[in-house]
Amino acid sequence: MSRRRLDVLAQPHHPAYVVWELTLRCDHACTHCGSRAAVARDVELTTAQALRVVDELAALGAREVVLIGGEAYLHEGFFEIVAALARAGVRPTMTTGGKGITGPLAERMATAGLRLCSVSIDGLRATHDRMRASHGSFDRATAALGHLRAAGIRTAANTNVNRLNRADLEPLYEHLRAQGIVAWQVQLTAPLGRAADRPEMILQPWDLLELVPRIVALKRRAFADGIRLMPGNNLGYFGPEEALLRSPTEDGDDHFAGCQAGRLVMGIESDGAIKGCPSLQTHAYAGRSVAEAPLATIWADDARVGSLRGRTVEDLWGFCRTCAFARTCMGGCTFTAHSILGRPGNNPYCHFRARTLAAAGRRERLVPLQRAPGRPFDHGRFALVEEDLDAPDPGAGLDPAQRVALGTRALPVLPVLPGCDG
Ligand code: SF4
Ligand code: SF4
Repeated sequence: MSRRRLDVLAQPHHPAYVVWELTLRCDHACTHCGSRAAVARDVELTTAQALRVVDELAALGAREVVLIGGEAYLHEGFFEIVAALARAGVRPTMTTGGKGITGPLAERMATAGLRLCSVSIDGLRATHDRMRASHGSFDRATAALGHLRAAGIRTAANTNVNRLNRADLEPLYEHLRAQGIVAWQVQLTAPLGRAADRPEMILQPWDLLELVPRIVALKRRAFADGIRLMPGNNLGYFGPEEALLRSPTEDGDDHFAGCQAGRLVMGIESDGAIKGCPSLQTHAYAGRSVAEAPLATIWADDARVGSLRGRTVEDLWGFCRTCAFARTCMGGCTFTAHSILGRPGNNPYCHFRARTLAAAGRRERLVPLQRAPGRPFDHGRFALVEEDLDAPDPGAGLDPAQRVALGTRALPVLPVLPGCDG
């Protein structure tokens, strides 16, 4: 698998991996949702338009399309689109909160051609339900894993790690293993969308010093259990366990190879706007819509879609500019760095960086400066404060006065969300 991934990286840029938000409509309204999903966008692609996009993706050589939302199954053409992808030879997969997946729905998904589905589970019952702002969400997500498996769909899980749920990781692994998952993706909660409204939830960069070794230990355990634990692209980079962390096999020699947005990765928003990666900030990276121009034209010519191609170390700044791994890493995950400091190229969420600072008795703290405006895939702004490694941990990095000034909110006490029981 490792070799296959590196082979793909050697190919000329084409959208091998596509993440397609079919609708922003959702049966959750999660507290950390980067797209602030709940209701559909004003204009979303119709089924007929989406089926044309399937043909265009196949012509561009797409290998895999991950259907997301909102909740992808709430798009009226969901089953038709899954079936069309499978017929076109593009592997359809899905990421879901799982709330509405019943046995019959799972069987329809399997019949349409879905072979792999990842359910988002972000902690044990109390933590998950709090992050998802929905009582019973954990139990329904767990039940969804069972329904999918019973329908013959291979199941995976994905987890966003932050200060609210990090203590749950090890028992969560045990829970997921017991559900028969084949893979687990673990990524950091970046301050994107609703997560940007809750800086108290966000990890501090020095948290990686204890978090990354714990995830690596879990990965060793997962290998023994036949489960593939893979880090999201915003978890790393270049610490002592980088090869093990990044490789799909125990003897792998992989490493983070730089952001592939607009090279091998494409994101499609539900209104048809094309981005180099689904998580990139809409206001800065969204190109034209497939409703306006052929997909191949947008992919080849749209300056925003291609804006991250051809960057060099000269485009980096701060610590990343001087880093020994800069040429390969290019500052880690673009959307994550952008969500913290307002532009890419300098990424405080880095294990190597945290370790380098710690060796000198220092660390970096994120201090909120500016609120996010409240749109899908938006971000606020943080300042980076360097301080002693053993300075008191201010928790959220906010005192109550700052919290009021910034309008940050505590996590909700599980409101009843209209239409959330579907
Ligand atoms: S400091 Fe920046 S360039 Fe260096 S490994 Fe970390 S994220 Fe990558
Ligand atoms: S922005 Fe981050 S998640 Fe998106 S392609 Fe780049 S590294 Fe991957």
